[in-house]
Amino acid sequence: MPITLSIVEDNEQLRNTLARELNRADGFKCLSHYGTSEDTLKDIPKVRPEIVLMDINLPGISGIEALNILREDPSTAHIPVLALSANAMTRDIEKCLEAGFFSYLTKPIKIREFMESLDTAFEFAQEHVRRSN
Ligand code: MN
Repeated sequence: MPITLSIVEDNEQLRNTLARELNRADGFKCLSHYGTSEDTLKDIPKVRPEIVLMDINLPGISGIEALNILREDPSTAHIPVLALSANAMTRDIEKCLEAGFFSYLTKPIKIREFMESLDTAFEFAQEHVRRSN
């Protein structure tokens, strides 16, 4: 069973690149991708990915606000959400981790680091499945 993910990124080129890399890598499947938080929040409770990759700077609802909304919904509260951001300032990274992001990836995305973060998030997601069974 591949690990399922959804991507939220308003840069269409990056979004498509990440989806392609995930689908090409062994063991991962990109279930859906979105350019806005609004579309994401409508769809994620139905799609139920195991991991979400979320850009911080999005038009409309920001990635941090979207994370808070996912956390308030019992059907999505447990999903590890990885932040993607071009901002590498320590304060901004800390702010995201305090908000509850599982980890923080700085753009440009380094594929190896990206895949390692996904493995860690997947272990966390599996642990949740074990605990709830
Ligand atoms: Mn963006």
